[in-house]
Amino acid sequence: MQTSSCRFETACYRIEDPLDPKKAYMTSSRPTVPFFINGEWIRTSDLATTPVYNPSIGEVIAETPVGASKQVDAAVESADSAFEGWRETPPNDRARVLFRFRELLLAHFDEIVALISREHGKTRGEAVGDLHRGIEVVEFAVGLAPLLMGETLENVARGIDCESMRQPLGVCVGITPFNFPAMVPMWMFPVALACGNTFVLKPSEKVPLTAVRLVELLSEAGLPKGVMNLVHGGRSCVDALLRHPKVRAISFVGSTAIARYIYETGTKNGKRVQAAGGAKNFIVIMPDAVLGNTVAGVTGAAFGCAGERCMAGSTALVVGDAAKRILPGIVDAAKSLRIGRTDVDEALQPAMGPVISSEHRNRVLSLLAKGEQQGAKLLADGRSIKAPDGPPGFFIGASVVDQTEPSSNILMETEVFGPVLNVVHLSDLNAAIAMANKSSYGNGAAIFTGSGKAAREFKHRVKAGMIGVNVGVPAAMAQFPFSGWGDSFFGDLHVQGREGVYFYTQQKVTTTRWFSEGEGDVWRK
Ligand code: NAD
Repeated sequence: MQTSSCRFETACYRIEDPLDPKKAYMTSSRPTVPFFINGEWIRTSDLATTPVYNPSIGEVIAETPVGASKQVDAAVESADSAFEGWRETPPNDRARVLFRFRELLLAHFDEIVALISREHGKTRGEAVGDLHRGIEVVEFAVGLAPLLMGETLENVARGIDCESMRQPLGVCVGITPFNFPAMVPMWMFPVALACGNTFVLKPSEKVPLTAVRLVELLSEAGLPKGVMNLVHGGRSCVDALLRHPKVRAISFVGSTAIARYIYETGTKNGKRVQAAGGAKNFIVIMPDAVLGNTVAGVTGAAFGCAGERCMAGSTALVVGDAAKRILPGIVDAAKSLRIGRTDVDEALQPAMGPVISSEHRNRVLSLLAKGEQQGAKLLADGRSIKAPDGPPGFFIGASVVDQTEPSSNILMETEVFGPVLNVVHLSDLNAAIAMANKSSYGNGAAIFTGSGKAAREFKHRVKAGMIGVNVGVPAAMAQFPFSGWGDSFFGDLHVQGREGVYFYTQQKVTTTRWFSEGEGDVWRK
């Protein structure tokens, strides 16, 4: 095991100009991603690893070590030792570190965006969105001190006052998915740290490089050693975090099966848990929707980030004449969506990048094949769309699937997490709401309409936690909770906003009475 005060050889995987396509071809070294424990970057050679790909070219660019209890113990002990000092640091001083972190994120914006595109495959615009939304949470965290303020009630009984205060929990853990390498980790640690907690982050083994860079900048911003730690691995690493007696709270974002497991195991071990899961989001298109904006909004929701979004609009519920008026525009837009590698200059950016891995592309292809066998009709077939000649990335074009028997089609039941939009034809808004409400998930739902009444009805009755009215991807902003329902969330307090602060703090209520000498028996007064 090697430790060093400097992170790792930058040249290994942060190439000088990641937007230069020629250099992207040249990346042959495969550095092992380091752990960050107690202020030290640690690289191991004795652990098994899993590959990190550049999905645009299908090449391995780094190796993620498979950590387990040894690394988790060290990280949690480090966070636990640092907790007392960090919680005693005044909120303004904690906020100043996060403010410097924000400045560093902005100073290195283009470099981080290129890194996100490189390890995830997002287009430049999508990677900008990923980082930008994360920075907005940091900005929220910088100003969250007023939410830590308690309340006072004078004279709860004669001469007795009551006051509450919010205090940090201790060691908090974040376990994150592959699809937003910057934003999702930043849903968690900036808020946890601003509240006075210490943190252990376990990013997705598929996209650990952005997390490394975020932690490096946080350290450069002046965070004391041990306050932020980074571990890597899969199930054994996560299990060690779930079981560790010094871990107080766990934030998880990922698929529903794992979210449920994290919630059940974490709470059984006495931890506070917020676990966001997968989704299947519906978009209702009413006949009176504005054509151009609806086509752009629905295609953006379905195919943005190649469909790898928990807020992706995966099923369009097309009401009445919208099928004639609006659907053809969506199908044309899907057919003309240009796919290609994203680790290239801005001028060469495609409309849609690759999916995360060849296994994932094969999964999407097999779901499409099965859906077709079960009677779905492909109005646009992404399998026939090819990326321009180049290295063999994990590409698949956009598909629009007409569902005549939606109740028995696998594409309707499964979270595809790829560029596939189901279309179901319905006669009216009531039928659309009823269909959306059958889903066990409940992350987001949107309606495109020109009618305030229809929008209100939808907003009031649909069973989902984030609603869009003429907005295709209504992902809650930093001030609001990212408020999934049903199988899209397990827990009580969501990430972000006031709920995020409440998740990372516990209340203490003090009842006070003061006496003077010779006052007599105050207890009987
Ligand atoms: P995933 O569930 O496979 O992995 C998420 C995290 O869990 C990773 O860090 C991974 O290492 C870990 N993990 C994987 N298998 C595990 C196991 N058996 N035991 C313990 N830990 C395990 O998810 P993913 O494929 O990385 O991300 C895509 C999923 O995340 C989609 O379902 C998407 O909808 C969901 N997601 C949800 C939200 C939300 O806010 N609801 C946001 C983003 C992504």
